Amino acid sequence: MPYVADTIAKLKRTGPAEIEYYQAVEEVLMSLRPLLDKDAKYKKHNIIDRIVEPERQIMFRVAWIDDKGQVQVNKGYRIEFNSALGPYKGGIRLHPSVYAGIIKFLGFEQIFKNALTGLAIGGAKGGSDFDPKGKSDNEIMRFCQSFMNELYRHIGPTTDIPAGDIGVGAREIGYMFGQYKRLTGRYDGVFTGKKINWGGSLARKEATGYGAVYFAQNMLAAIGQTLEGKTCVVSGAGNVAIYTVEKLQQVGATPVTVSDSRGMIHHPQGINLATLKQLKEVEGASLSEYAQRHPEARYTAAADYPAGRNPIWSVRCDAAFPSATQNELNEADAVALLKNGCSCISEGANMPSTQGAIDKFLAAGISYGPGKAANAGGVATSQLEMAQNASMQQWTFEEVDSRLHAIMNNIYQTVSSTAAEFGQAGNLVLGANIAGFRKVADAMIDQGVV
Ligand code: NDP
Repeated sequence: MPYVADTIAKLKRTGPAEIEYYQAVEEVLMSLRPLLDKDAKYKKHNIIDRIVEPERQIMFRVAWIDDKGQVQVNKGYRIEFNSALGPYKGGIRLHPSVYAGIIKFLGFEQIFKNALTGLAIGGAKGGSDFDPKGKSDNEIMRFCQSFMNELYRHIGPTTDIPAGDIGVGAREIGYMFGQYKRLTGRYDGVFTGKKINWGGSLARKEATGYGAVYFAQNMLAAIGQTLEGKTCVVSGAGNVAIYTVEKLQQVGATPVTVSDSRGMIHHPQGINLATLKQLKEVEGASLSEYAQRHPEARYTAAADYPAGRNPIWSVRCDAAFPSATQNELNEADAVALLKNGCSCISEGANMPSTQGAIDKFLAAGISYGPGKAANAGGVATSQLEMAQNASMQQWTFEEVDSRLHAIMNNIYQTVSSTAAEFGQAGNLVLGANIAGFRKVADAMIDQGVV
């Protein structure tokens, strides 16, 4: 497809070495062919060239002082990608792997994900190569304050509303919000993922994981199945993974794995949720500790993984929930999953499957829910947090959860009916990309060349 090759070539020339970003763009553009062929207006208004170019990219120095009194310097990013549908919205990631290519891929995905929620939010992402691991609470606070010393001037409740992502939970949001308030003198709903006692929403913490399970339920219902009694594998052991495990157990499935960057747990009797929460939410411990507390569970250290493979995907299962990070599931992993009988994938993480893996899932015709649809519950509930802040209300857990559930059902309907509209029923990658793109592109056309 020449327009895909031309666009990627241009991105490589003007923004070199942003590998994950090219990958995310290619995946979206490959799906758009039937839409671009059907409706000439997108080419006429040159939407492709416009949509792959962020509206604004902010890069800044984050200098902070560690506990030894040494000055440390990190890079800070906020990429305000697209505001056609509403104020910029997307998380902040703190991880040593962060560079412009990661933030750009995440921001690009966020545009379409946010569009799929049906809510009025544009797409953005931010972060830093700061590694929160091994840092004291005071170091985290000083970093967050320094990060905010620059970011505060670019965000606001109707301009750009950041949230959490890898390495950013309610503690980090608290430190950033505190500094924002100090610098601006305003108590605005400028972040989501806040703690409940100062403006957060009930069920926001659970939303991404619960949403990924609701999405899987929708995919299975379409073929007359449920998750009840199914064996599931989950990767990650952070916010998304923990609440995926929780919801899977609530609906009668058995999640048998979790992982972190140091290794994985396989617990054939089912993951013990209380232990997982205690280790990850309270103690911040490694998963090796899990096997100490549950001798029937097996721990495999990442150093012992076979080359180029993530052994989680070789565990026999009916459904898989990749919930750690990008490109954690490659083509060989996909082959192993399919061989072992896995017939449902719901992505809690952003772009966890490589293009080779996606091609295998689509060719096999299994239920495959891409991240931009399956994990949209987090940002959707962030928007519900904004609505509560704006109306000075706090809804009950049940109220938020039931709205989340309805939004996930609606996303599934939109994505699957769009796939069918373009003659590719069941191809939810195509459905999600076309449905998200069409909404944003139509708004861009309405708003003129800006
Ligand atoms: P957390 O930081 O809470 O947890 C991330 C988990 O993944 C940790 O267990 C971490 O292990 C593991 N992990 C991270 N990087 C790697 C890596 N390179 N290799 C192996 N394991 C890794 O993040 P979240 O749970 O919030 O996010 C997980 C994914 O979900 C990300 O892709 C994120 O973008 C996506 N997402 C999150 C949303 C949210 O609401 N939080 C919303 C939508 C998508 P360790 O602690 O050892 O590093």
